[in-house]
Amino acid sequence: MKERVLVVGAGLAGTEAAMAIARMGVPVLLLEMRPEKMTPAHRSGKAAELVCSNSLGGTAETNAKALLQAEMREVSSLILRAADKAAVAAGGALAVDRELFSELVEEALDAEPMIERRIQECEELPEEGPLVLATGPLTSEALAEQIQDHLGEAFLAFYDAAAPVVLGESLNHDLVFAQGRYDQDPDYLNCPLNESEYRRLIEAMALARKHVPHDWEKLEFFEGCMPIEEIARRGYLTPAHGPMKPKGLVNPRTGESPFAVVQLRREDREGRMWSLVGFQTGLKWPDQKEIIALIPGLEKAEIVRYGVMHRNTFLNAPALLAPNLEARKRAGLFVAGVLCGVEGYLESAATGWLAGTNAARRVFGLDSFLPPKESMLGGLARYLASANPENFQPMNANWGLLPDVRIRGPKRVRRQKKFERGIQAFRSAILQEGL
Ligand SMILES: Cc1cc2nc3c(=O)[nH]c(=O)nc-3n(C[C@H](O)[C@H](O)[C@H](O)COP(=O)(O)OP(=O)(O)OC[C@H]3O[C@@H](n4cnc5c(N)ncnc54)[C@H](O)[C@@H]3O)c2cc1C
Repeated sequence: MKERVLVVGAGLAGTEAAMAIARMGVPVLLLEMRPEKMTPAHRSGKAAELVCSNSLGGTAETNAKALLQAEMREVSSLILRAADKAAVAAGGALAVDRELFSELVEEALDAEPMIERRIQECEELPEEGPLVLATGPLTSEALAEQIQDHLGEAFLAFYDAAAPVVLGESLNHDLVFAQGRYDQDPDYLNCPLNESEYRRLIEAMALARKHVPHDWEKLEFFEGCMPIEEIARRGYLTPAHGPMKPKGLVNPRTGESPFAVVQLRREDREGRMWSLVGFQTGLKWPDQKEIIALIPGLEKAEIVRYGVMHRNTFLNAPALLAPNLEARKRAGLFVAGVLCGVEGYLESAATGWLAGTNAARRVFGLDSFLPPKESMLGGLARYLASANPENFQPMNANWGLLPDVRIRGPKRVRRQKKFERGIQAFRSAILQEGL
């Protein structure tokens, strides 16, 4: 009999992990605290409950989520199979009947003899043995404390105060300029604003709609992560003296210091993704889109991650995890889903599959499987392990995670090429590993 793997949390990531492990012939104990102890967002005791929207992302081959869906289908993903069976008409998106979806996941888990399910809150982390932690954005307090004890207090975040991230290829390089304050630091790009552009932006922020959080989602804002709209509310010039200050910056095109700037900081080494420094925001997404388009240089910016301000439990993945999703400090402890630093149902399930597969491979004494860098899962896993730990924010599937393709042509054609390259690379990698 093989050593049993403990999987904690029967959400999107934990169910996928449990199934991946069981299919490799390794027994699993799957712990889930609901319905005995509920989270503030879940409504049922069912596995893989979708807490909000019923969509697992767009299906067009030019959509980054579609590549991840395709990769998941290649490995007979539990979540994708249930989603395909429970699909409802939704234009270009993979949307599901959420009740049926959860029921199908439950049925599949119950039909798998290698999986034992138990309703129990995990309050203590085992010191050794193979384990997949997949307790999601609302990890129970007792377990969160344990995680802090094991991995270090500084490495677990309880809220997500994130600024929008835009795609490098969508920036207007005729306007933005590379420069750090007082030096030539190439890690920053600057969008210069004159006074009328600044005024237009601040006025738009004042009119923009805010996301209305549930009571339990509300945050006490620290001065260091105040939303930009709140900074603007405090005074017309407050942003210009704060995150938008032009101090130390000279626009090489005019030889002058701009009235204000929006700085962009590199999110990845290659500069495919850039975040708006100090622009954490809780504004509604369509309003964020309009506001960002008012910033010179970002008129056509493609947003790969919107700003959010909400409760969220996640690890500082680049400080803690290897690309196989295993804790660097504790062999055999794998982390998946939102807790490992991804965002989204699909991304959670995909990292669940990877963590589960690698936990089972560990039981067999096999090396971990690392999805190729051209695949979306490979891009995500590498991002988690290599992003800057100083300002790490969770990430979802997007084209900026993948290496560029060397062809010219419209965006649509280059994305389709990335899709084809990604799925082929993923297929041959799993074939080679017998997955
Ligand atoms: C309010 C809210 C809305 C969201 N809306 C969307 C959306 O619309 N679209 C989208 O793509 N993503 C959304 N997300 C983000 C994310 O994709 C989902 O939260 C997704 O369910 C995460 O998957 P997961 O497996 O990591 O966590 P979950 O699906 O939350 O699964 C974690 C499981 O662990 C259990 N658990 C927690 N602690 C313990 C413990 N100590 N012992 C045992 N069990 C435990 C929980 O009960 C839960 O069942 C949302 C998140 C939140 C919080």
